[in-house]
Amino acid sequence: MTSTPTIGVLALQGDVREHLAALAAADAAAVPVRRPEELTGLAGLVIPGGESTTISKLAALFGLTEPLRAAIRAGLPVYGTCAGLIMLADKILDPRSGQETFGGIDMIVRRNAFGRQNESFEAQVEVRGVPGGPVEGVFIRAPWVESVGADVEVLAEYGGHIVAVRQGAVLATSFHPELTGDHRMHELFVSAVRAGS
Ligand code: GLN
Repeated sequence: MTSTPTIGVLALQGDVREHLAALAAADAAAVPVRRPEELTGLAGLVIPGGESTTISKLAALFGLTEPLRAAIRAGLPVYGTCAGLIMLADKILDPRSGQETFGGIDMIVRRNAFGRQNESFEAQVEVRGVPGGPVEGVFIRAPWVESVGADVEVLAEYGGHIVAVRQGAVLATSFHPELTGDHRMHELFVSAVRAGS
């Protein structure tokens, strides 16, 4: 395996360009992924934020839901941000009808959890495993993690709520690190991909 892993960004909807740039800055070869056959050969995958109901629908439409579930089950490292975190939850507390996830993390998430008054905000978040002080968390109609299973590591909390988790090779944050120019979350993911390959 080379030291420059190829990492896909699920490009159905959301801030794909920003993730491609952040991955490149973290020394990965970043490629957009829209079709099931594009999963072949990836060392990892990022699922961007956006709208989880839309991502769920488009993934089904593009025939990606089952191949992605299978890839995650087989151990593909994945990093989901915001709506991407929702897509990686084994269970959504308040799904829209027909809304499905890929799963991968034994957790229950609450969509739009921070409420109307707090729809979008930034906060300093201390993330376990990320050196150099807190990261600037950009929260946009963000979910939080309501509860986790025994195999899930909680990496960060904000306001008493879980906002970053990891289970094996699958990482997820409620916030959007791709919007800040601070690439430490992507570096954390890329180094885990490298270590596991
Ligand atoms: N509220 C969105 C959802 O439920 C997530 C928002 C985001 O990704 N910024 O999918």
